[in-house]
Amino acid sequence: MRQALIVKCCECGQIRAGTRWQQERKQADRLVIYSHTYCPACLQKVLQEFDQFGQITPSEMRKAG
Ligand SMILES: [Zn+2]
Repeated sequence: MRQALIVKCCECGQIRAGTRWQQERKQADRLVIYSHTYCPACLQKVLQEFDQFGQITPSEMRKAG
């Protein structure tokens, strides 16, 4: 049985195929090993959420302190 290392976005579930991201197809003849990461689109989304979190936290801390 062949092995395949698949890089998969843990947000939208797309897999990396070379430089592109696409929906996963069944890998019936392969032993698939997943490496979870973010595709570029979801990475942007996650970074923006971190930015918002970073902006909220200091003022929340000032209120609390
Ligand atoms: Zn994604």
